[in-house]
Amino acid sequence: MSQSCSVKKCTRTSRWVCDCCQQNFCLQHLNEHNAFLTSQLNSLNDNIKVLRDRLKTLNIHTAIANSRRKLEEWRQDCYKKIDYLFEQKCQELDQLVEEKIRQQREELNRIYSKITELINAQETTRQDIDLFTLNIRQLETNMNNIEQTCFTINTHPLVIDDKFTLIKTTTERELDLLTLSPVYRTMRYPKESFVSLISNDRYLMMHQQPNLCLVDREM
Ligand SMILES: [Zn+2]
Ligand SMILES: [Zn+2]
Repeated sequence: MSQSCSVKKCTRTSRWVCDCCQQNFCLQHLNEHNAFLTSQLNSLNDNIKVLRDRLKTLNIHTAIANSRRKLEEWRQDCYKKIDYLFEQKCQELDQLVEEKIRQQREELNRIYSKITELINAQETTRQDIDLFTLNIRQLETNMNNIEQTCFTINTHPLVIDDKFTLIKTTTERELDLLTLSPVYRTMRYPKESFVSLISNDRYLMMHQQPNLCLVDREM
């Protein structure tokens, strides 16, 4: 007994069983079935064309520019830290010398005033002369030391780890917590299970037990 075509209301006898879907078709409906499947191929190809066009006109310059800006900020921050340390060490050097010079100047002035005082009074003793001679010898030694001051600077090369900057690809919809700014302010949250804490035209922060959620309306 011959099968009839599986298309609704078609009374013709089935002539073929389609390999792909195991349905019985008459000649006319087999052609239609084939045309329908082929038309689906065309629509799939249209999708590919759309995707190819999108790839051609792809614009992720903004994303790259934003990321470059972040890297640039990191670079400037590192430079600043090195500059700051450099300035500190320069000041440290200056201070080391300045302190010695200050002490020497004060001691010179002190002895000079004392001797001047005695000259003005036109009175001194053998002990005074011996003491001043001793003082001046010490000041000469100090002066020699100051003149011969040298510094040993030990430096280590700065080791920069590649892990200091990590690049991770995300989509706009994934919120990367690492890119959030540091904590600006903390506050006590209400005990209720669902409470809006703060909002503006774009963001809504709410407490939804046990999470603190930041909702971006544009996401
Ligand atoms: Zn089929
Ligand atoms: Zn048919």
